[in-house]
Amino acid sequence: MNQLRLRFAPSPTGFLHIGNLRSALFGYFLAKSLKGDFILRIEDTDQKREVEGATKSLLDILSWVGVKFDEGPHIGGDHGPYIQTQRIDIYQKYIKELLDKGDAYYCFCSSERLEEMRKKQQENKKAPKYDQHCRHLSKEDIKAKIKNGESYVIRQKMPASCCIEVYDELRGKIVFKSEDLDDHVLIKSNGIPTYQFANIVDDHLMKITHVTRGDEWLASFPKNALLYKTFGWQMPKYIHLPLILNKGGGKLSKRQGDVFVEDYRTKGYLPEAIVNFCALLGWHPKDDQEILSMSEIIDKFSLEGMGVSPAVFDLEKLDYLNGHYIRQKSIEDLSVLCRPYLTKEGLVNKETKDSDLQKIIEISKERLKKIEDISSMTHYLFMNEIIYEENLLVWKSLTLEESKNNLREIYKLLQEIEEGSWTKENLEKIVFDWLKENDKKNGDYLWPLRVSLSGQKNSPNPFELAWALGKEKSLKRIFKAIN
Ligand code: GLU
Repeated sequence: MNQLRLRFAPSPTGFLHIGNLRSALFGYFLAKSLKGDFILRIEDTDQKREVEGATKSLLDILSWVGVKFDEGPHIGGDHGPYIQTQRIDIYQKYIKELLDKGDAYYCFCSSERLEEMRKKQQENKKAPKYDQHCRHLSKEDIKAKIKNGESYVIRQKMPASCCIEVYDELRGKIVFKSEDLDDHVLIKSNGIPTYQFANIVDDHLMKITHVTRGDEWLASFPKNALLYKTFGWQMPKYIHLPLILNKGGGKLSKRQGDVFVEDYRTKGYLPEAIVNFCALLGWHPKDDQEILSMSEIIDKFSLEGMGVSPAVFDLEKLDYLNGHYIRQKSIEDLSVLCRPYLTKEGLVNKETKDSDLQKIIEISKERLKKIEDISSMTHYLFMNEIIYEENLLVWKSLTLEESKNNLREIYKLLQEIEEGSWTKENLEKIVFDWLKENDKKNGDYLWPLRVSLSGQKNSPNPFELAWALGKEKSLKRIFKAIN
């Protein structure tokens, strides 16, 4: 059997859209599950949309999520160049073949004429489509126009009324009517091919065996198939990935939230969570396992687990997965991840000891959904001075004076504990034993204690807080609250 080869073919137009990451990952999962190669090809033929530095940032974010390419512009390979604008000569050769065969033609229509044509179609409620004005120009006319220096594009000639059958691995047979197909542009007036041409030539020359791409390309599928037929090339297998919708059923758009992978990275989503989340956007493992590492996905991935109905982008699910992967991290790793966010907010600096930071993260990680949240969750633990809301210190039936008295008693008790014994477990045991011996109600003491240490309505329990703050800081806070 021939080596299986899949590719990711992004256009370098800016940050990586989450939908494109899903395409990249599905290609990668399938390639690796079939023990095939995964190739990166940069489709930069639309130079108006190109953004400087986009290829570099693409490589960076893909390597961050853990996608490893076997060939590509950054590592080379036997089927390069892997950047389309470096392959212009190749496309010239193949377009000539198409023109010679009569399956493509020169079009000299001006943009004004095309605009006028489109307007009329719109007025007559017709689908926009080239009216084939130049399709039947004589060889002499064409020669003369070219000689005259008239600008032209080259269009694909769609067959007159027939049916074109294509086969998608997920959807099965799909039939298109040729009347519905546009004689679309293959080579633009600047001599650069469109996606529709370069993509097919490259997939063929790069020996791609399976094409995984978004289902927005389904409409191009019959035209692509016609090109393969004309050239007499074997078509790769096509897998059009299902649409991704937001929870409300609309298109994923920037207005409703982040759509770029970089945004999620900035907010502190972990690559493990993003990979796991994207895998479930259109695929479901047989055994219903929901938490999956990259290698587990690759082990289990198969076309049978994929569907065609739109996948729903559920941010709560991503948060849930991210929380899971955060809790899998060691405290050391997690504090390395958190430190830049806390530094940015001015909560820690170079002098902040790792051991102090790690305690704070230890007591917060259970509730942490994304690393960015660490600052808002823990800011009160780093402050030198807390401003107390008096009412917050008071527990249910107690008066303010009683609450303060209780704090005084607890202060004395904690003061006796030696630094070396200042652990969560010890603190908890000593305080609970004392409450029991003295027949005190837990809430009457633990609530004011917790608020004196945090100043917050919600926080970890007082023993965790006291441990993370350390003895000196804890006593200082209780003292301040009493006063
Ligand atoms: N350059 C196309 C895009 O970025 C590639 C589509 C495909 O995979 O064929 O959408």
